[in-house]
Amino acid sequence: MDNVLIAVDGPAGAGKSTIAKIVAQKLNINYIDTGAMYRAVTYKCLQNGVDIEDEGAVVQVAKNTDIDFKDNNIYLDGNIINEEIRTVDVSNKVSKVSKIGEVREILVDVQRKIGSMTSAILDGRDIGSIVFPNAEFKFYLIASPEERGLRRFKEMKEKGYEVDLSKIVDDIVARDEMDMNREHAPLVRAHDAVEIDTTGKSIDEVVCEVVSHIQGN
Ligand code: C5P
Repeated sequence: MDNVLIAVDGPAGAGKSTIAKIVAQKLNINYIDTGAMYRAVTYKCLQNGVDIEDEGAVVQVAKNTDIDFKDNNIYLDGNIINEEIRTVDVSNKVSKVSKIGEVREILVDVQRKIGSMTSAILDGRDIGSIVFPNAEFKFYLIASPEERGLRRFKEMKEKGYEVDLSKIVDDIVARDEMDMNREHAPLVRAHDAVEIDTTGKSIDEVVCEVVSHIQGN
């Protein structure tokens, strides 16, 4: 396959990154977690005491930030920050950063550059609708809020965080609300995306569905 792009969009916790990572391995292409890029800018703002509500200041941070992916690691200004960007604090603030049009322009440029150089599966909110509207394959993963919350809950527990399930569900629903209703590139299913409801399905089942669609079975 030459330079194939696969878009995986959907709300928080629908299984996008888990599925995209496995599909990337199976097809031997790159996996790009675009949510990690918005998280990285958010994390840098928090680290530097930049007020997330101050859009001009956040844009300055985004402009002066170097984000890179190598060997399934995300680098922020040369440092690996895989874990630091997954905190509850970053999750609850990232939608305020990702709604800023200029921040999106900067990060979408990086995403398009990567996509122009290599075959990749990218997960996010606007990959099939805005970043790569001509992607060869587009998927839109959904799941019930309760199941999405439970998945996050288990993930956080495994990492040793003290978390409350109903608070996680509320946070996820609030984040989706912001992502779906923002002015720039809101979360939406591209008209030509294949929708997969992952509620009650195993990871294997969803991977099979995605791969068989790509391989035309
Ligand atoms: O995918 P993940 O949950 O890590 O994404 C974190 C946040 O980044 C989302 O809630 C959304 O606000 C933002 N995002 C976005 N566009 C993307 C990917 C993520 O706005 N393509």
